[in-house]
Order: sequence, then C-alpha cells, then structure tokens
Amino acid sequence: MGRFSLLEREVQYLKGVGPRRAKLLGRLGIQTARDLLYHTPRRYEDASTVQPIGSLETGMDATVIGHVVSKGILPTRRGLKIFQAVIRDSTGLLECAWPGQPFLDRVIHRGDLLLASGPIRFFHGRQLQAREFTVLASEGDEAESGKVFPIYPATEGLGHKQIRQLIEENLEELLPAAADEEVLPEGMRKDAGVPPLVEALRWMHRPEETRQAEAGRRRLALEELFFLQLIHARSRWESTRSRPGIEFGPSGDRVAALYRSLPFKLTGAQRRVLSEIGDDMSSPRRMNRLLQGDVGSGKTIVALFAALRAVDNGYQAALMAPTEILAEQHERTLRALLDGIDVNVELHLGRHTARDRQAILPRIESGESHIVVGTHALIQETVAFGRLGLAIVDEQHRFGVRQRLALAEQGERPDTLVMSATPIPRSLALSYYGDLDISVLDERPPGRQQIRTAVRRPRDLGKVLDFVRSQIAAGRQAYLVYPLVDESETLDLKSAVAEYERLSEDVFPDVEVALLHGQMSGDEKDSTMRRFADGRIQVLVATTVIEVGIDVANATVMVIEHAERFGLSQLHQLRGRVGRGAEESYCILISDMGEAAERLRIFSRTDDGFAIAEADLRIRGQGDLFGARQSGIPAFRWADLENDLDLMEVGRDYARKIVEGDPQLDEHPRLREALRQRYGDREDLFRTG
Ligand code: ADP
Ligand code: MG
Repeated sequence: MGRFSLLEREVQYLKGVGPRRAKLLGRLGIQTARDLLYHTPRRYEDASTVQPIGSLETGMDATVIGHVVSKGILPTRRGLKIFQAVIRDSTGLLECAWPGQPFLDRVIHRGDLLLASGPIRFFHGRQLQAREFTVLASEGDEAESGKVFPIYPATEGLGHKQIRQLIEENLEELLPAAADEEVLPEGMRKDAGVPPLVEALRWMHRPEETRQAEAGRRRLALEELFFLQLIHARSRWESTRSRPGIEFGPSGDRVAALYRSLPFKLTGAQRRVLSEIGDDMSSPRRMNRLLQGDVGSGKTIVALFAALRAVDNGYQAALMAPTEILAEQHERTLRALLDGIDVNVELHLGRHTARDRQAILPRIESGESHIVVGTHALIQETVAFGRLGLAIVDEQHRFGVRQRLALAEQGERPDTLVMSATPIPRSLALSYYGDLDISVLDERPPGRQQIRTAVRRPRDLGKVLDFVRSQIAAGRQAYLVYPLVDESETLDLKSAVAEYERLSEDVFPDVEVALLHGQMSGDEKDSTMRRFADGRIQVLVATTVIEVGIDVANATVMVIEHAERFGLSQLHQLRGRVGRGAEESYCILISDMGEAAERLRIFSRTDDGFAIAEADLRIRGQGDLFGARQSGIPAFRWADLENDLDLMEVGRDYARKIVEGDPQLDEHPRLREALRQRYGDREDLFRTG
C-alpha cells in the first residue's frame, strides 16, 4: 500500500473487460481490479453436491451435472412447446425437460456443461423436470478443467460464466499484488487456522475442493471480524484504560450482612459473575461490563452485591431503569433485601415535585444517599453525585449508548455495569457489545416453575378465553397481546381497539379490562401498568410489547394473538411476564402456524432464553435480529455469525492485545491505515469514550 497498486487500476483496463463490460461490472459494485479480485463466488457446485446420473430413480429429487449431447424443441398436441436436452456424465444419459420454455434453445448449447435440479419423472424413461439450472461452462472453456464450479453473483448482460472467465484471465496477474495487502498478524491466522490472503483468494476463486473455498472464506471473514473488534477494542480502551478508574478495596460489613440475611444460596453462575465483577472492581482499570441473563436469572442480587461493595468503600452506587415503574420496583426490592442493613436507598424520578427534589438532590450530592435508584432523571444536569463509584444500567437496550455513557460521566469515572434480560447468542453479543466485557448468568435459581406453553388455533379462541375467565375467577390476572408490527398501522390498531371493546363488553363484562398501546403517552402507559400491577385491572389488552422486567406476580396467563408475527425472542420476553409468583402460569399462542410452525414448536418446547436466541438467529438470519436501532454494525460480506464464533473470539483476543500495547496503533501503521480506509466515516469511534 502507499505506492500505486495494480489493484487500484480501473477494471475496464483489465484483460477481457473494456468499457461496455466495465459498466456492467459497475452494477455489481466492481470499479477497480481490487473489487474484481474480492468479487468472490456466492456458492459452489461440485461432484460432491450432485448425484451420478446412473443412480437416479423415478420419484427422487436430484441435482446432476452433465454435458449436453443433444437438444431440441418438442411441440405437444396441445400446442405447448417443451425444450429438452440430453446430458451425459460418466455414469449415463438423462433427459431434462423444460415445458413452455422453448427460448432456452438459445441459452443451452451442445457441449455445454449443465447443472440441473428437479424431480425425476417417468416419461418414456427417466426424465428430469428442471426446476433450476445453470450453464457451468461452454465447450472449450478453460475453467472446465476444475472439479468445483464457482457460481458468482451476476447481473443482466453479464452472466456468472463470463465473470468466471474474466477472473480466470486476470487472477494470476492480480494475486501477487494482493500479497502486499496482507494485514492480519501471522499468529492470528495460525490460531484461527486460516490461510494467508493470497492463498485464500486463489482458493475461493479456483478451489480444487469445496473445503478450500471454505478455508478461503474463513480468512476473509476473520479479517472482517478482526477489524470490527479493533474498533471495539479502541473504544473500550478509551472508556476503560485511557485514564484510571477506581480501585475498590475489599468488601466490608454491609456485604457480609447481606450474605447472612439472604434467604437463599447464590447459584454457581451468580458466584462466577460476582467474582468477574469483583476482579474488575479491585483493579485500577475501569469496569465496563455487560451482564446478560434471562428473566428471573437473578441479576438484581448480583447488582446489589456490587453496589454494597462500593458503599462499603465509601462510594455511592446508582441504578438506572428505563421506566418509573421499574425503578420503583427495584427500590422496593432493594429495601426489602437491605432490611436491617445500614444503607440509605434513594428513589429519584422525573415526576418528583420541586419540593421533593429540594430534599433529594442535596442527599445525593452529599453522599448521604448510598444507593440511588431512578430513571433518566439521574442523568439530568441538576443531579450531581458526591461520590459515585458504580453506575448500573438496567435493561440497557432501552437506553441509547449516549445515556449509558452519561451516567458513567457522573462522579469520578465510576465503574459501569449494564444489565440485559434479552439473551442473545455470544457471537451477536461480541459483534454488538464487543467494547464491553461480558458476563452471563446461564443458570436459573432452583425451584423455578415451568410456564405451561401451548399453541391453539384461532377457532379455539373461545375456549382459551373461557380458561382466562376461570383464572380470573380464581383471583389471577391476564395479559392479551396483539401484534402491532408498526405502531402507525392504523388498521391493526383499529382491530385491536375493536377487540378490546368486544372483550370488555361481551367477554369480561364483570371485570376491569384496559388497553395499552404504543400511541398512548408515556404517562398514560405508566398509569395503566401501575393499575394492573396494583390489581385494579384484571385483563390487560396490549398492542405494545409490555414493559420488559415488569413484575406482576399475580398475572398467570399470557395470551398472544397472531403469534406467528412475533420473533422468537419477542415471544420469550412476553412469556417472561408471567410465572413470576407462586401460582402455576400459562402462555397460550394463538396462531394458524403455517410457515411459523417450526418456530412456535421450538418455543413451546424450551424456556431457555439462550437456546431460543440461537434458534432465532438460525431461522431469521443475522441481519434481522436487531432491527434498525442497532445499525451501527456494518453488514458482513463473508463472516457468518452462526458459524464463525471461533474466528470472532480469535479476532477479539488479538484486537484487544494489540490495542492494550499500542492504543493509537502507532506501531501498527498498516492496520491503522487499513482501519482508516475502511471505517474512516466512523472516525468518531476513535475519539469518544
Ligand atoms: P432478573 O432481574 O434477572 O430477572 P431477579 O434478580 O429479579 O431476576 O430475580 C428473580 C427472583 O429470583 C427474585 O425473586 C430473586 O429474589 C430470586 N432469586 C435470585 N437469586 C436467587 C437464588 N440464587 N436462589 C433463589 N432465588 C433467587
Ligand atoms: Mg431485573
């Protein structure tokens, strides 16, 4: 790099290109020789993915490769024209048919190497009814010599065969120039078990076996993941290492007292996570840790132990929750657990009157309030902590990065712990939260009851509502959820409102039914939730995802209509709203199933949030899981979050090691330059912390 590279050359000057093709290549995003070199196949076909013609039997669904030995158009009596081609491989001959597609006569030629797939029928002998086909090579193509056929992303006017030809013609000339662009440390490549760049590109374009193509892909994937982790490592360094944080001493009387009064034993996962947090707190490095754990896994206790250690050391702790109800719930929980222990818990909310504030703010400023629980109100300018040592953010995904950081800016660089009850697979966690250290509570406290989950058809709704009625007669409460994918979909909202009216007038005329939807103001939502929590509402009809983390122990039924419209993780969050008390609880999905059958079945069989998140990733794919809000992460071209966790881990280890020793990358000029070239628009990540 630096000097002019062959790879910078405009693609039109390469062999076999010219202005017309250059324009077509432009549609594929290929401007330079480098772009062409990195235009890697979308998939591969080879003998291992196809069946020998000799082995085919009627009724099979087959994929075959063979040379076209004859072809023609066959008119039928009904006036339909069928294109037919006979292909041959080393094991026999097979007739392939394309009814109603006579134009293929101009596309498929004698001598072509053809890949075709479809069902095998009996029609004067075996015949393949082609569903899909690809001309892999024409007679005389050089590429035909290989056994594995790369299929390139193509565009109209420039087929994958022509692209393969172009790459074939230029590959040997371009590859040596790519050698200059190897940026991955050799040790990292070895640890990940991937080839050097040049090898990887050669193998992706011209594999002898598909195994080579996969090794090549992994090399390019490692590079993508490594650079993402470099960015994370840099922002991690900015926020935790660039200036020292608090070095907490050992815990004292309060922590000991909480241990003594705790009505249960900590789970193994809680002890492990506490020791991870403990190590961070003891060290002069600033803690910046994500605590992930399913609903009910016991995050609050963990957070409380950490807070008490801070208090034992003369510091304050803050716990910020996304809504007033959640903040109040936390405050009650903490007060109950701290009964008899010398700790001042303060609640600070936006709705407090000026008079309240006049009393509260000085206590926060003087340090008299040991643990301050609150909402966004905690990050308003008027709030000044005297000695904030630990900032805890609950349900962190409900806050923006900026708000998380704002709390961390209070006091003297407090340690930060962010908590999330939305389990996500580790590979996703590392790509989204790679700047944080991650702790996972993957064990439930013992004795937790299973929530009984069932799927019912819409025609059975009446019976389901009868069941809900019986639960209410027994003194319980219920949620009924309607999907509203987009809150602006007025049609959906209307039907939900109509349904609410029907329910409150006809089905549950004798109990209190309320509606909660996304177009209500925050205050309205809050007050409805509050009345439900207080037991003044029996049935809550909701079109909006009910507050994560809300704890209404008396609610035992969750009915979800059109369950197929929700993602697995969303369903899991909803189910987590019940089963919070001692009573047996139920989650009933109403759905026609259809394509969602597999998802809903997985869901009714397991209640492990991490297993559900993995399934969600597998079914929906990596692009879909986080939605637009988290769009900060670039889309990967080669990396695959489902399969490349090992590469992500290796990339992260190296990125962190490199940045720890050389935060400005002064001694790694090539990495620095490559990072700037690729992520220059994200320079801000280099400055903020
Ligand atoms: P989360 O915030 O992760 O959803 P909580 O901290 O609210 O979970 O804990 C859920 C419930 O489990 C609380 O009632 C809590 O007191 C209880 N709990 C926490 N840890 C344990 C444990 N080790 N053994 C038994 N019960 C526990
Ligand atoms: Mg919680």
